[in-house]
Amino acid sequence: MDQLKDILLKSNSIALCTHFNPDGDTIGCVTALYLGLKKLGKKVKAYTTGPLFEKFHLYLKNLADMEITTPCEDEFELLIFLDCASLKRVLPTEDYKPKHFRIINIDHHPDNTNFGYINVVDPKAAATAEIIYKLLKSLNCEIDQDIATSLYIGIITDTGKFCYSSVTSETHNIISDLLTTGIKPDEINNLVYEQESLNSILLAGIALSKIKSEYDGKLLWTLVTQKLLEETGSKAEDSDLILDLMRLIEKSNVCVLFRESEESIKVSLRSKNLINMNKIAHRFNGGGHERASGCRLKMPIEQAETIIINAIKQELEQFQ
Ligand code: 5GP
Ligand code: MN
Repeated sequence: MDQLKDILLKSNSIALCTHFNPDGDTIGCVTALYLGLKKLGKKVKAYTTGPLFEKFHLYLKNLADMEITTPCEDEFELLIFLDCASLKRVLPTEDYKPKHFRIINIDHHPDNTNFGYINVVDPKAAATAEIIYKLLKSLNCEIDQDIATSLYIGIITDTGKFCYSSVTSETHNIISDLLTTGIKPDEINNLVYEQESLNSILLAGIALSKIKSEYDGKLLWTLVTQKLLEETGSKAEDSDLILDLMRLIEKSNVCVLFRESEESIKVSLRSKNLINMNKIAHRFNGGGHERASGCRLKMPIEQAETIIINAIKQELEQFQ
């Protein structure tokens, strides 16, 4: 962290970048650090390899400045990647390799490849936003309401509203300090969690009505096909809710969602405590955390279903 602090204080032009398919943590980190570094008088630009969920614009005012591409390395002294386990996570489709001496990697994924010149990787942090909070504090940057909102969103989204095992007393201490800025948790939670379109609720209803279950309900999964998205007038991003609902079902432990897009099948893997989902995701060129991971397969959705469910069943056999 000290090395990072020194290099940040010495640098003037800095690019910040999210991971592909940005979530609340990566967007929260980029927007918080963007505002913080601006306060310190730096020339900063924010990038995402997008596309951004529409709802992010509802609660993060400074998103309009964000460019939907990767930063051009020659324009900046430093390129900071936030919440990215590897450079492949920034841009999975291309061989994106900026010059090593410029890369700063700030993350909390246990499978981080330490791809930076400076790597601040803390797998114990419940969200990368916790690391950014500490960084801004160490830079003596005042955390105002906008920065606090970004960090708060990063933490609530990566901890399932403080419910996951990754939550520590430090998580709550950070949140406590963020709340002193006057941010309103009810309003932020309403914007983040209570803005589902009716179509996405209908989509969830249909997907849940087709749920498949094995191991006495410990393993649950369902498919969201492009046809289903069309029929319900929904977008792929509307299906995140399905995973949250699957977790609520009694006895559920391992939950899997298969989402079909034109390019590939996105597989979201969740486990409460039975198996290490990161291990499964890695077998299929994906990654993530022990309890929440993902991967993408280029094959028909039924084939992806068979392959992934068989791999999970192999792991679950030990508990039979
Ligand atoms: P989600 O299923 O919500 O997209 O992702 C859950 C977790 O898995 C996230 O922490 C994310 O970092 C990771 N993840 C999702 N998709 C991929 C992927 O294609 N590759 C890698 N390496 N990690 C992924
Ligand atoms: Mn994260």
